[in-house]
Amino acid sequence: MIPKRCSYCKGILEEGKSEFIARVGGEVIIIKEIPAYVCNQCGEAYFTPDISRKIDKIMEDIHKGRICCRPVAAGEIELSV
Ligand SMILES: [Zn+2]
Repeated sequence: MIPKRCSYCKGILEEGKSEFIARVGGEVIIIKEIPAYVCNQCGEAYFTPDISRKIDKIMEDIHKGRICCRPVAAGEIELSV
């Protein structure tokens, strides 16, 4: 379940929105606008079991190629020195 306090910094968790970022076969998938409890100090997001299940389901669909994601510019920068 959702702890009352952040387990990292003991900050207070507030209802908000978060994102889930995953890497699938070299592509970066970002699921946005996920209802979550967000630590007001370090920003760590906690998902309810219900939401976690939905994320798992979406990830499963992506892996099976059922969802077509738009390629996202994930802000990766190549350092060419
Ligand atoms: Zn925290």
